[in-house]
Amino acid sequence: MPLVSMRQLLDEAAKGGYGVGAFNVNDMEQIQAIMGAAKETNSPVIIQASRGARSFAQDRYLFHLILAAAELNPEIPIAMHQDHGNSFETCKSAIELGYTSVMMDGSLKEDGKTPASFEENVAVTKKVVDFAHARGVTVEGEIGVLGGVEDGHGAGGTGLEHVTDPDQAVEFAELTGVDALAIAIGTSHGAYKFSKKPDGSVLKMDVLIAIHKRLPKTHLVMHGSSSVPKDLQDVINQYGGKLKETWGVPVEEIQLGIRNGVRKVNVDTDNRLAMTGAIRKVLWTQPEKFDPRDYLKPAREAMQKVVAQRMTQFGQAGHAGDYQAVSIAEIAKGYKDGSLSTKPLVAR
Ligand SMILES: [Zn+2]
Repeated sequence: MPLVSMRQLLDEAAKGGYGVGAFNVNDMEQIQAIMGAAKETNSPVIIQASRGARSFAQDRYLFHLILAAAELNPEIPIAMHQDHGNSFETCKSAIELGYTSVMMDGSLKEDGKTPASFEENVAVTKKVVDFAHARGVTVEGEIGVLGGVEDGHGAGGTGLEHVTDPDQAVEFAELTGVDALAIAIGTSHGAYKFSKKPDGSVLKMDVLIAIHKRLPKTHLVMHGSSSVPKDLQDVINQYGGKLKETWGVPVEEIQLGIRNGVRKVNVDTDNRLAMTGAIRKVLWTQPEKFDPRDYLKPAREAMQKVVAQRMTQFGQAGHAGDYQAVSIAEIAKGYKDGSLSTKPLVAR
């Protein structure tokens, strides 16, 4: 299957009542781990690259690896997404490269650190929407500010400092026409999300539910949604690592989100932990090894296992064959004639 529009993938997820994991990639092994899991569980999938990933791997390498994934797995719908675009130019370059979806994170200024005003956010996001939709490309926006920092991007602090205001979310969606909306409900980027075991009230689920009721056609996105399981932390620390004790977002909370309009769930940290643990184990227990394949193969397998588990938990497993890809040109027509509009929004 050619790369598909993320909008199509999320519309299908909404129809089926499931969520889709969006997994970050930087290299071939991570892409292979995700595709292995997608094949194993028969799942549609979102592969995403941050600005850091694009510069680490170089655009052409990364993009051609994704094309190879699509070529080798024609039965799997794959959307290629720019994670946390910091400017119109970043999003434009991703679109020109062939990404089928971009996130314009206008919640922060271009430095990726300083919270932006509502007006600044609307202006830059609307500009990206106009450019992207004319080319059939999906846009995710963000309103409210997430906690933590990852890949040098983020305002820092806890996830509860700038929780999304539902009225603002509605206004933002109305003014920009984004397809998907990342909201801040208490999650943070990175491994250190919560310093104590989170209970059922750790996330502002009431905010999420209120937003979904008023924006039923806008797909909600949960960022910073790794679960940071203890067993993955333990492997790292057992073989010489030094992770401080930390807690992520419980899978049940994500599933509650999925029942209330969350269609895209971003996961990165869990995969990083799985790979690093597997590599540490080999290097620690078999110090005579020096062929990179001796540790990259177990690392790839460990990541595949986590991704497959998330695909099952988010409900996307089994849905790869539900639909055929709509061409990006057709999607562009849908934006133009209004059939893909997320409006009308529910009255306030
Ligand atoms: Zn994020």
